[in-house]
Parts: sequence; structure tokens; C-alpha cells
Amino acid sequence: MGVGGRQLSEGVLVCNFSRGLMEHDHVVTLFHEFGHLVHHVLGGRGRWTRFAGVSTEWDFVEAPSQMLEEWAWDAEVLRTFATDESGEPIPADLVERMRRGDDFGKGYLARQQMFYASMSYWFHQERPEDLTAKTRELQARYAPFPYIEDTHMFASFGHLGGYSSAYYTYMWSLVIAKDLFSAFDPADLFQADVARRYRDRVLARGGTKDAADLVADFLGRPYTFDAYAAWLES
Ligand SMILES: [Zn+2]
Repeated sequence: MGVGGRQLSEGVLVCNFSRGLMEHDHVVTLFHEFGHLVHHVLGGRGRWTRFAGVSTEWDFVEAPSQMLEEWAWDAEVLRTFATDESGEPIPADLVERMRRGDDFGKGYLARQQMFYASMSYWFHQERPEDLTAKTRELQARYAPFPYIEDTHMFASFGHLGGYSSAYYTYMWSLVIAKDLFSAFDPADLFQADVARRYRDRVLARGGTKDAADLVADFLGRPYTFDAYAAWLES
């Protein structure tokens, strides 16, 4: 999350991006953080601050932002604003190649995230004396790559403080995000009816219901692992 603090019905995003042309990576980050902002703004009009905006379960809170990232990978969306120095919109075939590049190594990504999640959980659950030894054990079990001698990556793993034992939320939110996105037509991400239903049934409700119920209200069924599994396998 990049937007914290008070629940707002208006908001701004404060980000650090490169000057001049943005890299696509930054565009994805901007869409992600904008997802939190929209959640804040649309969900910020409820009666109780405690349940307003992004005051949802922590293992759901990243889902709306992770889903909005999909729009940053769509050629039709990008051509509305993403141009080179001469004002030429980004070519659709370039976006397609970028998507294929991004698809590469999803299994590595998932396993690395599982490693981080297990580290976050077991460091807090067991409070091991020897953090490096525990890292080695978990890395051997979950990560795609072996431990490198004399490294101590947990020392710079900032989310160990911010998310404490719940780093798993990033991957679990992604499961929900992929399922939410399955309701949209990837060939037309500007369809207003499904977007309005998503706004009204998920974002605008903030934390007034359990996230699982909000998602079921939107999808018309409980969320499942299927869309995530299909994404991982594709
Ligand atoms: Zn976030």
C-alpha cells in the first residue's frame, strides 16, 4: 500500500517517479497505488470511519489495486495516454510482447513469494534465535533459487515490519484479484456496466461487510482459486 492514514473522501497520490518519460514499471505502480486511492475515495462515505475505505481485511486490501494493474497492461488503455517523445501512442504489438515477457517466470515469482510469506510467518510464530538458519531452511523448502552464503536478506525485508506475519496477503489478494478480473471482458476493459457493479458492490462498500461477501456480491458466487491457477498455468 502506498496510501495510508486517515480515511478520506478526497485524496492525492504522492509518488516518486522518474522525470520525463515514465517507464512502464512505474505506470503499473501508479495504477496500483491509484487502486488504493480509488478504494479510499469511493469507500470513504460510510457512516463509520472504522469500516470506511480500505479498512477491509488485510488479506484482501491489495486485491483491488492488483486488479487495476491489469489495465496498465492493456493496449487500448495505454494508447489513451502512453506516448513516446513524438506523441506516438505505444504500439499494440509492443504491448503484446511486453505482456509475453511479463508472463515469463510466473512460477519463479510465485515460489519466491511463498518463501517471503513463510519467512514472515515463521519469524513471528517461532521467533527463531538464528534468523539466517531459519532463512536457509525456508529458502530450501519454498524458493526457486538456493541460499547464497553470507547473505541476510531479511535485514532489508521491510515488509517484516509493516506486514509482520501477514506477508502472505500479497499472494492471497492476487488470488482474489484474478478472480475479480475474470468478471471483466479482457477485450474491452472500458465496459461501464461491470465496472459500475464492481464500484458499487466492492469499492464503495469499504469494510462494511466481510470482503468475501463483497466479492461474492460482485461475482454472483464465492471466490475461488481457479482464475489464479489458470493465470499461473497459462
Ligand atoms: Zn498496494
